[in-house]
Amino acid sequence: MAAMQTSYDVVILGGAFSGASAAILLRREAPSLKVLIVEKAEAFDAKVGEATTEMSAMFITRRLAMWHHLEAEHLPKEGLRYWFSNPKVTGHTNATEAGGFLRSSVPSFQLRPDTLDEYLLATAVREGAELLRPAKIREAELRGFDNRLTIEVDGATREINCRWVIDATGRVNFLGRKLEIIDRNDEHPIASMWCRWRDVRNIDDLAARDGALATRNIGSRRLSTNHYMGWGYWIWVIPLGNGETSIGVVFDKRLVELHQSRNRAEDFIAFLKAIPSLAELLEGATPRLDDFRFYSHLPYVTRQYMGNGWALIGDAAAFLDPYYSPGLDHAAFSVEATVDIIKRDAAGEKLDERIAEHNVTFLRSYHRFFNAAYRDKYYYMGEADLLSASFILDTAHYYIFVVMPAYRFMKKFFWMPVLGPKPAFVSYHLMSFYNRRFKEIAINRRAAGESGMRNDARRYKAYFNLNVAPFHMVARGLKLWALAELDNVRLAVKRVFRKKRADPMLIAKNQP
Ligand SMILES: Cc1cc2nc3c(=O)[nH]c(=O)nc-3n(C[C@H](O)[C@H](O)[C@H](O)COP(=O)(O)OP(=O)(O)OC[C@H]3O[C@@H](n4cnc5c(N)ncnc54)[C@H](O)[C@@H]3O)c2cc1C
Repeated sequence: MAAMQTSYDVVILGGAFSGASAAILLRREAPSLKVLIVEKAEAFDAKVGEATTEMSAMFITRRLAMWHHLEAEHLPKEGLRYWFSNPKVTGHTNATEAGGFLRSSVPSFQLRPDTLDEYLLATAVREGAELLRPAKIREAELRGFDNRLTIEVDGATREINCRWVIDATGRVNFLGRKLEIIDRNDEHPIASMWCRWRDVRNIDDLAARDGALATRNIGSRRLSTNHYMGWGYWIWVIPLGNGETSIGVVFDKRLVELHQSRNRAEDFIAFLKAIPSLAELLEGATPRLDDFRFYSHLPYVTRQYMGNGWALIGDAAAFLDPYYSPGLDHAAFSVEATVDIIKRDAAGEKLDERIAEHNVTFLRSYHRFFNAAYRDKYYYMGEADLLSASFILDTAHYYIFVVMPAYRFMKKFFWMPVLGPKPAFVSYHLMSFYNRRFKEIAINRRAAGESGMRNDARRYKAYFNLNVAPFHMVARGLKLWALAELDNVRLAVKRVFRKKRADPMLIAKNQP
């Protein structure tokens, strides 16, 4: 066995999606760099993170050149789909549905993350990265571009020097915690529980037995990320390439109290089965309780992404909310931007301005994205028209300003994170505005005892393509918003006549 080196250009802590893809790009594009990956897990577990977006799919297919792997081991994804309920809803047939009508024309995928991560890591090693596994980073002394790391492997410790250390340890946040730069996002108190299920019924076959439901859609519904929505929560249903189905709930702890449960797995299953349309899919299905997981608080963010000789990528830097599946997008953007800066360093470029811009852009993206798309969104997740308007408008923004420029104009994956560029302030303010309005309207409806009135028997269609569809979606979303505002005026008049002066927020909170 060759003696282990003690000096590297780049050491990457964590060899899953972010760490392995950074290693692959560095080895391919700067082959003179010596790269070491330190991965704690002997084998990756199933974890979560199954749905790509259009951009994370572009990163895996076009940047990492892994179409073959995605096609062999994973499933294509057919956009986002939402199901709503109210007391009239008895199943999918009479539930309000929002989502793609035709197949999506932009590729995205439903992944098994452990399979993908193993493949990425094996590729990184094949392309010349060294790997210590299982091995754990114990200590890091950051000294400008001359870092010293202590790594535990086979019960012994090794000292390693490197110019760059990249933290890709995910929620462990190894470097961020050491530097004390990770902040919990307490303004967004969301939690999640999930597990994989076997023998979940195929929604397209259910639809085929019910003519009316089948004719409401052309593409595959099962291959969408199906969401089941309600006041304070959303549930994902994602089909996997091995025949299992990933099902999980994300909820706002101010509105749903599942986190207080003493029998979490049991209460989680009961919670899912209480939704009639979802219960249709779960008839005869078995949850894999060995896979049941609970995260009590999801979001956090670093105060700095990069310094001289160190960088945080993927979940090691930040996590916001799995709604819209932005996790791998953020991982891909931060990997791409970090690799670019390290390559420039290797070419002898001065980095001060680039590192400063990198930090500003990624932090601006996190905070804008939170305010524009996520802050208090869980207050209107149970209102079909409001949630559909926001989904349609948010998706149109994503297509027009991120996906279309990458595919149609730049014709390549580009590192800019969502809402990161300065000029994106227009989208940022517009999105934040309608997000605030939808919350307020939902609270007014709840206070008036009119929650979820549009949650049965409606169909809000979306289209995912790179032509005019995103612009039609803008018009469609604005129309839904305008109608909701008009209806809100009716509620205000009703309140005046009822002479109810009570704070609608308080009344809404006290509703069951
Ligand atoms: C409920 C939920 C649902 C999600 N759904 C989606 C989704 O549908 N789509 C999506 O894009 N994203 C989703 N995500 C986010 C997605 O899972 C993450 O963004 C993604 O896994 C991040 O990859 P990563 O490589 O940065 O971190 P991780 O996958 O967490 O990898 C970190 C690696 O570091 C290793 N490590 C940790 N500590 C050490 C140490 N001390 N020494 C050495 N190695 C170490 C670990 O073993 C691990 O392999 C979801 C997240 C949650 C919580």
